[in-house]
Formats: sequence, C-alpha cells, structure tokens
Amino acid sequence: MQIFDTHCHYNLSPLLENWQQHQQTATSAGVKKSLIVGTNLASSRQALEIVADNNSSLYAAIGIHPTEAMAIEDFDQTLQELTALTEVAQVKAIGEIGLDFYRLATSLDPITEIQKQEQLFIRQLELATRLQLPIVLHVRDQAETAYLRALELYHRYASNHQQAVIFHCVSGPTTYLEKALALPNSYFGFDGNLTFKNASNIREIFTLVQKRHPEKILLETDAPYLAPEPHRGKVCEPAMIALTAAFAAANLGADLEQIYHNSLQVFDLLS
Ligand SMILES: [Zn+2]
Repeated sequence: MQIFDTHCHYNLSPLLENWQQHQQTATSAGVKKSLIVGTNLASSRQALEIVADNNSSLYAAIGIHPTEAMAIEDFDQTLQELTALTEVAQVKAIGEIGLDFYRLATSLDPITEIQKQEQLFIRQLELATRLQLPIVLHVRDQAETAYLRALELYHRYASNHQQAVIFHCVSGPTTYLEKALALPNSYFGFDGNLTFKNASNIREIFTLVQKRHPEKILLETDAPYLAPEPHRGKVCEPAMIALTAAFAAANLGADLEQIYHNSLQVFDLLS
C-alpha cells in the first residue's frame, strides 16, 4: 500500500517535538509522501525547516489559516513575508487558507473578523494564482455562509482556475459540493473523521465524489487532529492514515492506487 498524506502538521505540537520519529512510524505504515501544511507564518517556516533535507518524501504548503486573521496587523508586510517563503522548491501549495465562521460566536468583533478573514483569503488566492500553485482550502461554518462565500471569492480572485484547489477535510451543503465537483481542477481531501460512527454525511460525500470523479479523491490525516477510529479523540499520528485508507477500501470501495496517483497529479509530481 502506498499512501500520500496530503495534509498533516509535523510543524505543530505535539508532533513537532519528535517529528522524525512520527515520520518513521508513518513510513512503516505505508506513507510514502506527506504535505506539511502551514497555519501561520511561524508554522509555515517550521514546515520549510522540516522539508529542507528531505526532498523526495516531504513537501510543504505555506499559508495563513483564517482563524489567524485577527492577529495580523499589517497585511502587506505579512504577505511579503509569506511570498518570500514560496521560493523554496518543496513548496507545492498555498494553504491552508479560506474562511472559518464556525468560531465567530466567540469573536469579540465578528464583523471585523469576517472582513479580515476575507481580506486575508483574497490576498492568498491572488498569491496562489500568480505563482500557479494549488490551493489548500479550509472552510468551516454551521450555516452555509462561509462555504458559498469561499466559492464566490475563489471565482473572483483565482479567476483563471488553472491551478488545483483542494477542498481540505471536505464538508458542506449540497449546493456547495455540486459547484466544487464541477470545477475543472478540484480535489477532495478525506480525513480520519471518515471512520467516525456518526459521520455518515462525510461517507456520503466520499461516495458521491467516487462515483462521479474518482480522480479527485485524496486522503489526509490533518494530524495531530482528527484521529480515526478506534483512536478518536486522541492525538492523531500520521501513521493512522493507514486505518483511514483501509476503512475506505473495505467499506467504501476506494481504489488506493488511484488515490495515490491523484495525489501525485495534484502536486505535479508525476514523472
Ligand atoms: Zn490542517
């Protein structure tokens, strides 16, 4: 079994402290390649440090997560620093970027936060488009608002749609999923929550994508988050992606070789 973990965080605690060991365990479990995804400038830099001397199995995505938007004081300065990081060859995507209105309930100033999230997302969409790098998209909301708004901004600011967009840890309303599926370069990342007993909605999305576009399916861990069954609630080890893969193959008819091939394709790694 060959697996490409297209979204993990060796760059975040508690994986960071011992990432080499976690990676070794993952390799033994069949993980051939991994994309380490940034969530802010510091973790993006950390991802680059990790991939620096590991150029055939580890790649990086650099970007700023929407929940970090309020912490940014100078957008120009931040974008400049982010852009400088993209010069490293192992940077294969911009992410994770997007909109997260799920936690707005706890925001002191939700209107300003929405504006800042959108501004940050737009600037990073423009960066990805300019560099023709795939986008790792994070969207989360209890309502449909963030999902539909994210697609709208994607259409407006990543206008040529040449580069891929990965719907990371995909969820969302049917109208959104249909529009996402219809995009020429869309991919869909499935995580450990695919195995959760109460996640029939995620399994339905998997089945839908598989039936219509099996070439768009990717597997991810989002480690240290979202550990699959029977480890739900614990720290997710990147090696646990093997459990998600086995589950998808046994219960949802997933073709793991095809999924591996999809992952190489999305990051332009097919030789
Ligand atoms: Zn993530």
